[in-house]
Amino acid sequence: MGSESKFKLTYGTMFSPPEEFHSAYESNLAALRRTFGQEYSMIIDGKEVLASEKFENRSPINTDQVLGIFQKGNEKNANDAIAAAKKAYQTWRKTPWQERVKLLRKVADLIEERSYYIGAAMSLEVGKNRMEGIGDAVETAELIRYSCDQLEKNNGFEIQMGSDPFVGLKSTNLSVMRPYGVWLVISPFNFPGALTGGPAGAAMVAGNTVVMKPATDTPLTPYLLAKAFLDAGIPDGVFNFVTGPGSTLGNALVNHPEVAGVTFTGSFDVGMGIFRTFAQNGRYVRPTILELGGKNPTIVSKNANIEDAALGIVRSAFGLQGQKCSACSRVLVEESIHDQLVERMVVLTEKLAIGDPTERNVFMGPVINKNSYKDFQDLSAELSQAGRLLTGGRVLTDGNYTNGYFVTPTLFADVPFSHRLWKYEMFLPITTIGKVKNLEEGMQIANDVDYGLTSGFYGTNEEAEWFFDNIEAGVNYANRPQGATTGAWPGFQPFGGWKGSGATGKNAGGVHYLQMYMREQVYNLVTKI
Ligand code: NAP
Repeated sequence: MGSESKFKLTYGTMFSPPEEFHSAYESNLAALRRTFGQEYSMIIDGKEVLASEKFENRSPINTDQVLGIFQKGNEKNANDAIAAAKKAYQTWRKTPWQERVKLLRKVADLIEERSYYIGAAMSLEVGKNRMEGIGDAVETAELIRYSCDQLEKNNGFEIQMGSDPFVGLKSTNLSVMRPYGVWLVISPFNFPGALTGGPAGAAMVAGNTVVMKPATDTPLTPYLLAKAFLDAGIPDGVFNFVTGPGSTLGNALVNHPEVAGVTFTGSFDVGMGIFRTFAQNGRYVRPTILELGGKNPTIVSKNANIEDAALGIVRSAFGLQGQKCSACSRVLVEESIHDQLVERMVVLTEKLAIGDPTERNVFMGPVINKNSYKDFQDLSAELSQAGRLLTGGRVLTDGNYTNGYFVTPTLFADVPFSHRLWKYEMFLPITTIGKVKNLEEGMQIANDVDYGLTSGFYGTNEEAEWFFDNIEAGVNYANRPQGATTGAWPGFQPFGGWKGSGATGKNAGGVHYLQMYMREQVYNLVTKI
């Protein structure tokens, strides 16, 4: 991608891509459009598998548009996928880690090569704008590469330990990291690339085999990733892809006794349900990586650069229609600059282009589905009763908006801090702005939620140090105009949450992540001398 230019795509740099990104995206989008309505299989043990029931994947941009027909997998499919992964595990775990790295790097290269096509798929099925779509695809490749890098840097995690001080005997001790077995990956709709391919890649390079179930709203992107895994030569059964409802297929997978570990990314409620089921139904404790919701605050000091703060907040509040786990949904601003900040945020918000996200200048596409569309209307009405609507609060129904789930970016002020929606993850383009007397009060309110995923701050460097020291969240940014609370990139800002936002305290795309997919084993060999 962009091999001739020096441009490196990240969520921080995506606002001004070179022209070649647009032309490549457009030709891939046209190719993708020619596949509309096609049927897609599941992939179990390297074979295409069809289920007796199907479901349609319709675009939230225009619900008349059927992107593809997918398989409504059932319990038998779950069992078959796990059996295939279990069988493949015996060979895969013994495959030298260097060999696994080589294959996974090939996967990453293929995904990056196909990132315009995969990105276009994400525009159509998720509603991501161009650069967000391509960004998610490239991030997927980068996450897989990062896991490969970590395994290489640590020499496969084989470490010679000390020798026991025996007399007349030589004692050697080796610490190694070994895989667990069959790893389940369940992903959400909003990052169907990175949150499917990232964990699957980590699990596989570590020597586990994978069964992957994507969100029902977004099966196409994970299917395209599954193809990349197979095309790169990942052996049959090492990566299995099944589609179908979480409540049935997902439940059958989570309850299967042969699953050795799980990575679930999604809502707090479903994640906690999986955590309990996994614990109750297991014969022993198994690794459970949970990446859950957020209610991400930005604190703005009276010393902040208002332009940077307003721009960063608006980008993080409304990028991907507020449907990022890292979206900025709460703004806590010192009284003396409240009105100035609000005024600027309203101006920037009202400039955002809403529409078909495959179009070049569109920033906001539709929300994901009918439920989210209805939630937007209900929650906007509830907040209008409690506070002051600054802008937005409407759904768009005319012209090109007729058949999609389009809503306006929405800001509320003066909602009392006691209101329930200050703590509830709406997962929509709705942000509440509250006045605080001082930074301490802002910090107290920022931390007074069960979530702790990302946060933002605008103020002096000294204040930023204080902010980093006190905030209870996994990923924290200060004075970033590219996004107040969003935009993490593998290797730069490892991504994960504290408290109710994540179970492990180790962030994806960082140095502590890959080890979670492996268990330590120690070999002590004693020989006579
Ligand atoms: P969701 O409703 O919790 O669904 C996530 C996944 O779980 C989907 O694949 C879903 O399948 C499946 N599922 C649902 N019920 C299940 C069950 N009983 N057993 C097994 N699987 C089940 O979340 P979402 O609406 O797709 O995504 C939005 C949420 O994800 C937000 O809360 C967001 O903050 C969070 N998120 C967190 C991170 C992070 O890194 N911390 C990143 C992205 C998103 P179906 O689609 O078939 O129901």
